[in-house]
Amino acid sequence: MSEYLMAMTYDECPVENVWEEMNDYVIDESIDLNTQLKTIAKTDVAPVVHVYKINGEQSTFIKEVRYEEYQCNCEKWA
Ligand SMILES: [Zn+2]
Repeated sequence: MSEYLMAMTYDECPVENVWEEMNDYVIDESIDLNTQLKTIAKTDVAPVVHVYKINGEQSTFIKEVRYEEYQCNCEKWA
């Protein structure tokens, strides 16, 4: 069974205690990973993206990438 990479976007608000999954995307490994993750984060306005390696039923966490530009603004007003 072939392996592939998947990215999952998350919405996060530390002030309101929100942590929720948004969308998942299959990564095209022929394209630069960081460029792709940035595009995905921008599409969803997601402050956090997780990358997983998928192999059949198994998913292995690879890394977390954070984008400060998409963080919620709550903390600025708290
Ligand atoms: Zn917030």
